[in-house]
Amino acid sequence: MKTEKPAIEQFSDGRKPIGEGTFRFGCYPGVKCFTLCCRDVDMYLYPYDIIRMKNRLGISSDQFLEQYTFNGFRDNPHFPSFMLKMSDDEKKSCPFLSSEGCTIYEDRPSSCRTYPLERAVARDGDEKVCKAFYFITNHPYCLGHQEPREWTVKEWIDDQEVQLYDKINDLWVDMDTIFRGNPWGSEGINSPKLKMALMACFNVDEFKTFLFQTTFLSRFDVPEERIEQTKESDVELMKLGFDWVRFFLTGTGPLTLRGD
Ligand code: SF4
Ligand code: SF4
Repeated sequence: MKTEKPAIEQFSDGRKPIGEGTFRFGCYPGVKCFTLCCRDVDMYLYPYDIIRMKNRLGISSDQFLEQYTFNGFRDNPHFPSFMLKMSDDEKKSCPFLSSEGCTIYEDRPSSCRTYPLERAVARDGDEKVCKAFYFITNHPYCLGHQEPREWTVKEWIDDQEVQLYDKINDLWVDMDTIFRGNPWGSEGINSPKLKMALMACFNVDEFKTFLFQTTFLSRFDVPEERIEQTKESDVELMKLGFDWVRFFLTGTGPLTLRGD
């Protein structure tokens, strides 16, 4: 998901949003290129992708990150990205690919879900995501573009159940904006705060341990109802993690210290 300022007809790199237009696409087990796109993929994972996949696999976020991801500084020099680690077979297959297709289909990550669309967002004066634009991506090996079915963006998003992912990923885009501003000061990427931010944003199970086994809840004013929600929901945990990172990097709410 790229973040750019809005230009309704055309973005600065020349890409034109689909807008109200349509595109042709079809993807199903009978298509000749079936699963070609699931090999040797350079795939960014968002925090919500990790929550969905680790819960699907029944493992902790720590285990998931260790086994299925690698991280490195990619398009943001101030914060590492988590990437899906491909298998070490000859074709570098996605670890979740079987001969029948995706074994985690209902919990597949955002980029698999959204393809062949790519999403970009515009921000308002508070740097919050306020408008989304969609572009068509076209890989030569993907024969889905030759299929006859026409889609609007809305039809595709509904069909692939993308809305929930987009809604939660937009919270991550707000965090990503903070990281892109180099919030680490003179310590740079060696700042201990970066490690805490990584944990709070991407490793919800470790953050849960941190939340309940340290003085966190005696220091921060977290409503009882929200504490209960974090016990039940990894997404609520992730949101509290984001609020905590925002607090210690920018000094802004909604999280506040007790007594403030
Ligand atoms: S997660 Fe599923 S859909 Fe995505 S690349 Fe892997 S096998 Fe393909
Ligand atoms: S049509 Fe495109 S998205 Fe579908 S399996 Fe083929 S390469 Fe992948």
